Amino acid sequence: MKHYNIPIFIPHLGCPFKCIFCNQKKIASQEQTLVEGVVRIVENHLQTIADQDAQIEVAFFGGNFTAIDEDLQRAYLQAVYPFLKRNEIQGIRLSTRPDCIDLKKLNLLAEWGVNTIELGVQSLNDEVLKASCRGYKAEEVFKACHLIKEQGFKLGIQLMIGLPGDEHERDMETAGIVVSLQPDMIRIYPTLVIAATHLETMYLRGEYQPLSLEEAVAVSKDMYVRFRKADIDVIRMGLHPAEDLRSEGTIIAGPFHPSFGELVEQEIFKEQAAEAIKRLFAVYGRQEEIILFVHPRDLSKMSGQKRDNIYCLQEYFSLSKVAIKSLDGPERDWVGAAGVSSALPQELISRERWYELLGI
Ligand code: SF4
Repeated sequence: MKHYNIPIFIPHLGCPFKCIFCNQKKIASQEQTLVEGVVRIVENHLQTIADQDAQIEVAFFGGNFTAIDEDLQRAYLQAVYPFLKRNEIQGIRLSTRPDCIDLKKLNLLAEWGVNTIELGVQSLNDEVLKASCRGYKAEEVFKACHLIKEQGFKLGIQLMIGLPGDEHERDMETAGIVVSLQPDMIRIYPTLVIAATHLETMYLRGEYQPLSLEEAVAVSKDMYVRFRKADIDVIRMGLHPAEDLRSEGTIIAGPFHPSFGELVEQEIFKEQAAEAIKRLFAVYGRQEEIILFVHPRDLSKMSGQKRDNIYCLQEYFSLSKVAIKSLDGPERDWVGAAGVSSALPQELISRERWYELLGI
């Protein structure tokens, strides 16, 4: 079932201060949606969605919804509620900070049909949270997550990698704790140095160094695997490449790529393929030329950007040729390997099998 979010952008509304990495106006380049404009935005979006079975949610993003003045929260939700009652939308979601959650706030959201709360957690390492001036500790995140789940909301957790004081090991510790909190969905964002933020100042003073793109892909891949293994959806990796985010002077430094999530998945396919080839050689002996099999919709992920994955595997295994063929079927995310004379995979690594082999 296709899912659509109708975004209602409220940049920095309810933020207790401006976080060191954050400049919502630059990354989404939209002004605050006034309450009076909400109905029109929802109606306009609904007209563009032809799919009768789509799951549609209105999403309040870019601010800190539960810390907005209560009357204004009600006014926003009141504008959206009739769409929910008429079943024209199936849910309301919003993002907020973990230290802005309590029972009273949740009761207000429940009253007006909010079903999903995304917490901007970023990290569960207290030193990273402190170095990034987040203003709360991991303990507060745990309380907020438990309360949100207890009250029957769906819980989303947004994480950032490469924050000041962060390292791969700390990200993996955070991922492990997040798994134990059992959220319904995760977003992973590599930290970027955005113009007009304190992080830009730190970067220019030499006090902060962002991750390289390769490092960010590697960390995100390990976290992605950790979450998927625990059956937790990873609904986004990398910032949405809005036009203004890509305009000159907005991203000062950092691992930005317009298809960051795709890069992570390509890396996973490459590693799965390497495992399939190793097993092929172990069982059938070394070969000079091989075929990799994938689902037709996974061809580009297997191939990688500019066929990078193929060249890399070719070099690593000293192969004279690596061909890719597609095999249709209900399952995706598997990689098969075979000698050139075979019409079907001789060895196959499913995603589940690969997760097991990694032992993450
Ligand atoms: S990260 Fe969240 S709380 Fe911090 S300034 Fe940005 S929108 Fe506000």
